[in-house]
Amino acid sequence: MKHTIFLFLLIISALVSCRNTTQNSTSTTAAKSTPSATPSKTDPAHPKNPYYSRTDTKPLKLSDAEWKKILPADVYETARHAETERAFTGKYWDYAGMGTYYCAACGNALFRSDSKFASTCGWPSFFETIRKNSVIYKPDNEYGMERTEVLCGRCGAHLGHLFDDGPPPTYKRFCMNSIVLDFEPDKKK
Ligand code: FE
Repeated sequence: MKHTIFLFLLIISALVSCRNTTQNSTSTTAAKSTPSATPSKTDPAHPKNPYYSRTDTKPLKLSDAEWKKILPADVYETARHAETERAFTGKYWDYAGMGTYYCAACGNALFRSDSKFASTCGWPSFFETIRKNSVIYKPDNEYGMERTEVLCGRCGAHLGHLFDDGPPPTYKRFCMNSIVLDFEPDKKK
């Protein structure tokens, strides 16, 4: 009789233990598969920025506080508060590598290197964007000047200004701040 009771308790104990294991594994699976509001796969070059993506073109709207949290201070000041870097100080103003330029705040593709031209203004200059909606435009009348501000088409980051003194075929000059550009060189074939 004692053996029967012991065996019974052992079976009950095994069943309870198994049930708990199953519940735990189910809840772990559920937690992993629950869609998150923020992308979980962070770009290794932008470890604090979970929104950075070179493939996602959906508009990205974040609060100023959130941008401040995820961007390096110098990128944040230019991208979100329209600071302008000093001429001839940015890393791309006279750079001639072949590749693609992306928004440093969100990863949106902006320019190809073959639309970049040697400019004497001290900022990286391009005559056209990689796609028509890579950027958006906004009138800028600050400092008593009539200018056109250029913003990232995905995240609205301030990138620079557009002028009509560029080379053919567009005669436009996208005058950009290096600090809000990420450059990815073309892969060698
Ligand atoms: Fe952007």
